[in-house]
Amino acid sequence: MAQQLIARVTCPNCRTTFGIPIEQVLDVEIDPSAKARLLAGQVNLAICPTCGFASVLEVPFIYHDPRKELALVYMPMAAGRTDMERQQAIGALSRAVMSTLPQEQRKSYLINPQVFLSYESLVNRVLEADGITQEMIQAQRDRADLLRRLLEAATPEERMALVRENEAMLDENFFRILSLNLEQADALGRGEVFQKLMEIRTLLLEQTAVGRKLAARSRALQALQAEPTREKLLDLLVETEDPATRAVLVTFGQPLVDYLFFQKLTQRIESATDEGVRQRLEALREEVMGIREQIRAQAREEVQTKRHLLRDLLTSEQPELLARRRLVELDDLFLSVLASEIESAQQAGDRETLSRLQEVWQLVMRLLQEQVPPELLLLTQLMEAPDEETMRQVLENNARLLNSSFLALLERVEQDMRGRGEEEVARKAARALELARTITPAQPEEKRPPQRPSGLVMVRG
Ligand SMILES: [Zn+2]
Repeated sequence: MAQQLIARVTCPNCRTTFGIPIEQVLDVEIDPSAKARLLAGQVNLAICPTCGFASVLEVPFIYHDPRKELALVYMPMAAGRTDMERQQAIGALSRAVMSTLPQEQRKSYLINPQVFLSYESLVNRVLEADGITQEMIQAQRDRADLLRRLLEAATPEERMALVRENEAMLDENFFRILSLNLEQADALGRGEVFQKLMEIRTLLLEQTAVGRKLAARSRALQALQAEPTREKLLDLLVETEDPATRAVLVTFGQPLVDYLFFQKLTQRIESATDEGVRQRLEALREEVMGIREQIRAQAREEVQTKRHLLRDLLTSEQPELLARRRLVELDDLFLSVLASEIESAQQAGDRETLSRLQEVWQLVMRLLQEQVPPELLLLTQLMEAPDEETMRQVLENNARLLNSSFLALLERVEQDMRGRGEEEVARKAARALELARTITPAQPEEKRPPQRPSGLVMVRG
């Protein structure tokens, strides 16, 4: 496994020297955020703690996406080195990936990774594997550029002129870029930019055809949320001109789309006196059935994917390694598929399968527990404690966790639960808080290094 390397960097802007961890292996199966960071140009990006100046470190790394069988090495010329040294470095990176893979996943594409001299060409290869063409990338750039010009516009008139001149680019894609920028500005606490982006959004919702369509979609969804009944859903579907909005309504209101719903729709069809209205309602019935079938097919496919993962875990020689790699997929749906397989094996009296399934269950539970921060684990134990004595015991066993932030967490839980009318849980939290206060030792809170489950996080920026 790759060692965590720390690079010493001198800021080219203010000459401050600081250390940053170097990412050598980006594996999207282990760390799904890796791809987004790569595409955003954030891999091995050094940000000066003093002046905020960002500079890219020209260091090699490997990008690995096992589903797409992509093993891509970034090997910038600036990293120097002779040909021989470069070959060795490439070999070391591909071995670092291999060592985290169970035997059956070690495929030949990893032995000869594709090598890229520029970051941009590597990014383009990743996009190409997603079916994204150069034209699509250019279209995206043009929209990002238009957004930047809208942000820089000095007056409302100038902004309006830009909107008029570029109507064709102000499509749903543009709104997605706008939303991403809003999220980012919010997350980074850039209030002024956020405010400006909101103004632009409001303007576009009123002034463009797509904007008006999106605004109508969000109003329709809100109306359904406020009144989630079959009648309301039916009314909204009849009123809505835009097919994409109807699809969103059916998806969102899926639990309402049942036998009763279709009965109501059929009644409307039968009582329609106008031939045109009747035909439109019949077309609507076909459409809703089609959307519902699509949603069901998608759900079946998701279950199928989980079944495959379970089968792989059962047949792998290194189930733990595989499970660690596919950790993000071990979700509620996976657990329910696993639980139902266990039940079937029990009913069939198939002891061997049952015991292998139970092993998988225990493995998954152990890995999931590792993911839970110890504070949350303690909180769960406290809330599940059957009596006060157990609660006290749990607290004493975890005295090292009882710092001010944990006490604050207990307080928040109490308030939240009281707010939601969960009196019983609120009382428990209050009692745990009282007890914790009597146990809290008067010692300074020590800073513990963040704990990382072994083997999960390799190198991170
Ligand atoms: Zn600096």
